[in-house]
Amino acid sequence: MCGIVGYAGHEQAAPILLDGLEKLEYRGYDSAGVCIGDGGALRVAKAKGRLAHLSELIDGGRSLQGTIGIGHTRWATHGAPSDENSHPHIADSGKIAVVHNGIIENYLKLKEWLVGLGKRFHSETDTEVVANLIEHFYDEGFDFRMSVRKAVERIEGSYALGIMCRDYPDTLIAVKKDSPLIFGFGDGCNYIASDVPAILKYTREVCYLDDGDMVMFTASDAHFFNGAGDPVEKRPEHITWDTSAAEKGGYAHFMLKEIHEQPKAIRDTLSPRMKDGRVVLDDIRLTPEYLKSLSRVYVVACGSAYYVGVQSKYIIEKLCQLPVEPVLASEFRYADPVLGADTLVLIISQSGETADTLAALREAKARGARTLAIVNVVGSSIAKLADDVIYTWAGPEIAVATTKAYSTQLAVVDLLALYFAQCLGTLPQARYDQLYGELQQLPAKVERLLTEEVISRIQYDASRFFNNRDVFYIGRNLDSATCLEGSLKLKEIAYIHSEAYAAGELKHGPISLIEDGTLVVAIATNPALFDKTMSNVKEVKARGAEVLGLTTERFADEIAKSVDSAILTPETDPLFQPNLSIVPLQCFAYYVALMRGCDVDKPRNLAKSVTVE
Ligand code: GLU
Repeated sequence: MCGIVGYAGHEQAAPILLDGLEKLEYRGYDSAGVCIGDGGALRVAKAKGRLAHLSELIDGGRSLQGTIGIGHTRWATHGAPSDENSHPHIADSGKIAVVHNGIIENYLKLKEWLVGLGKRFHSETDTEVVANLIEHFYDEGFDFRMSVRKAVERIEGSYALGIMCRDYPDTLIAVKKDSPLIFGFGDGCNYIASDVPAILKYTREVCYLDDGDMVMFTASDAHFFNGAGDPVEKRPEHITWDTSAAEKGGYAHFMLKEIHEQPKAIRDTLSPRMKDGRVVLDDIRLTPEYLKSLSRVYVVACGSAYYVGVQSKYIIEKLCQLPVEPVLASEFRYADPVLGADTLVLIISQSGETADTLAALREAKARGARTLAIVNVVGSSIAKLADDVIYTWAGPEIAVATTKAYSTQLAVVDLLALYFAQCLGTLPQARYDQLYGELQQLPAKVERLLTEEVISRIQYDASRFFNNRDVFYIGRNLDSATCLEGSLKLKEIAYIHSEAYAAGELKHGPISLIEDGTLVVAIATNPALFDKTMSNVKEVKARGAEVLGLTTERFADEIAKSVDSAILTPETDPLFQPNLSIVPLQCFAYYVALMRGCDVDKPRNLAKSVTVE
């Protein structure tokens, strides 16, 4: 996965490309590069490491003159991060330059074939094959566009490609399949990018390219073609959200900004779908008759979105008496799930481009199941492919570790559970009304968790525990699902070994790992299970653990008797308590990471939108 930007216009291209790449660094950041066209020359600058390093090398772009170019931030899949493997890649005879997002699955076969024809290779990447393949056809006499088309016909895998040709000094070509790519219509200039924030400063008129689409453009015009090579019309969509939504807006990190955006994001996601005491999901077409015919729901996702799936099992089963099975997308696609007309497959993905989730969605469709996606990115591959989509209105999420996307996904699951219950008639009216009311109050309650007072308390806890080497998150029922996400946050951004366990499982093995100074984060928000979890707290304390508790305000005195420090959340229905509990856990992970000097927004080895298997 990576970020691609391209520009054709009348301004100096390199600074524009660097600026765009900076907004895309969340997509890949192990190396960066640009290729600038200057008359007949293709000038490349690329280097391993962060974009700032490249920028320094080329003096903020000033040392590379030219008004057309392509740029890339890489997240390596084929070949280690290195200067040679960085993009753009230039074909052997220097006529073609390529930036690529994705994986060319048949690159070895193609490489052998091209080597046989005399082409020399200078990197370990799959991408270099594309540059050479295009050049091969170009040398055979095809024009630039035809050469790209012929090359694309031969490659298998996923790609968004930005391509330049030495002999077409004013022209860029871009083509995509299974990797995101947008086109931006400028005034006397045009752009391509992997994502909107990269070009939002320059244009709000964009279109999303579909799989197979190709665009050939200069500063003044753009021609679009579909997979069959036929010309197609593309209309610009007007982007309404603001550049500030894609920038840090005064916060030290995107993650902190996104944590604080949660009340709004949840409100934006819930309120248009809650009208006059009823959940209204105009965006989906699941009728009560269809829902009544269901015998099971699979929830398929990766990472945090999968943990939303784990939460959904408790919530939907409780409210709708409908069996729910959360499955990891990477497993689902290679398992043999029993699917049919009576199974609904719920797909959850922030980016809507997660490769494993997309593949699982395809598998589910192929096996005859109906699919419903919960996605944050409009027009993304998953959104397009699923039978129905519910968008989370979280806005762009830039920090690699998800916060607001997770919270809004969970809010959508709550909504869906109520909607299903409403259609299936599984809840007495009074209970429905009570849950509806609680859901409406969620954004305000999340807000209360983000006040100065609560945050400074969490900062204090972080300062107390940030040197811990091992952490266990324990809880029961829905709290155990919250543990999974809380623990993942700490792993992802603070690089602390942490495990999440259903509290009742401790005695079946992991308690042997508890020793003096081990930190246990105990979540106990469900009144019916509070005492049980406190018994587990006693067990770990007896073995030397330090315990950070998390419960609701009403248990303040009670929990103080058992733990070293406690975080308190407002009360809501136990089914919605996870929406509140997760917020202090995100903050805790954030401040621990900060105190350990970690790069919070770009944690090592991780990338935002995992578009490879
Ligand atoms: N597969 C290509 C590489 O490893 C592209 C990876 C990316 O999307 O950044 O260079």
